[in-house]
Amino acid sequence: MLAAVNMVALITGASRGIGRGIALELSKIGCDLTLNFRNNESLAQQTAEECVALARSKGHAIRAETVKADIAQTQDREKLIAFAKANFGRLDILVNNAGIAPEVRADILETSEESFDRVFATNAKGPYFLTQLAAHWMIEQVRATVATEQLKPKIITISSVSAYAASTNRGDYCVAKAALSMLTPLFAARLAEYGINVYEIRPGIIATDMTQAVKGKYDQLIADGLTPIKRWGTPQDVGLAVAAVVQDFLPFSTGQVIDVDGGFHIRRL
Ligand code: NAD
Repeated sequence: MLAAVNMVALITGASRGIGRGIALELSKIGCDLTLNFRNNESLAQQTAEECVALARSKGHAIRAETVKADIAQTQDREKLIAFAKANFGRLDILVNNAGIAPEVRADILETSEESFDRVFATNAKGPYFLTQLAAHWMIEQVRATVATEQLKPKIITISSVSAYAASTNRGDYCVAKAALSMLTPLFAARLAEYGINVYEIRPGIIATDMTQAVKGKYDQLIADGLTPIKRWGTPQDVGLAVAAVVQDFLPFSTGQVIDVDGGFHIRRL
């Protein structure tokens, strides 16, 4: 009997925070993983080892490889896809997770062009062109697939409530996330004919290194009722949503936004 082939997922910015949470949840369901990191190799390696051990504890044998690449750089995006091809030979899932906050939270009347360009390159342009590269490979795979094989590649992008909620002290981040949100309907419409579904997962306030600097402010806002579910979100909350999509639990939905935000998006009176 042939051994079952694991699905292969490529996750950007996977060494820590939400990316790590996604990697851990996908390891639990037996996905092989390409874990992209930008600058902390030992942390990425640690995440990879945790994923392999966690998978084993659930009865899965997986591989988790780490690869250094800056998704804002054209050559690095190509390197990332080439690495995944060389190491796994297939791609079932792309998770566009890597993202940055502005180095300084500046009033929109003062935001510098430099900060805007930096944030936009990682949070919008990088995922757009990485998705384009991955989509070409996914189409090739689908075309080469024999009818008996199950291959339903998916693209998942981690955006933010900042795609629609105005924070006037980080307009560059909001504009980049709003632009990123258009990626999902565009690629969903273009790739449906190949059976490739595309999803946006829109996290709210999630406890990670990124939000550590504003912890006190958000503790207070949450206590005051900003979110109907009165707690911080966790990387696992986002990882579980990604795992649901990866397991094809939403097969007739594409171009879909999935809010993982404790109900932040609900308009209330
Ligand atoms: P984080 O800073 O803890 O982790 C981000 C990861 O992405 C890091 O590993 C970082 O090295 C990597 N990264 C950054 N720029 C990169 C680049 N150019 N190339 C490759 N890797 C890069 O942040 P997080 O909170 O885990 O955020 C993950 C994603 O979720 C981001 O896109 C962020 O905008 C989004 N998000 C976060 C929150 C939150 O409350 N934490 C809320 C909504 C959306």
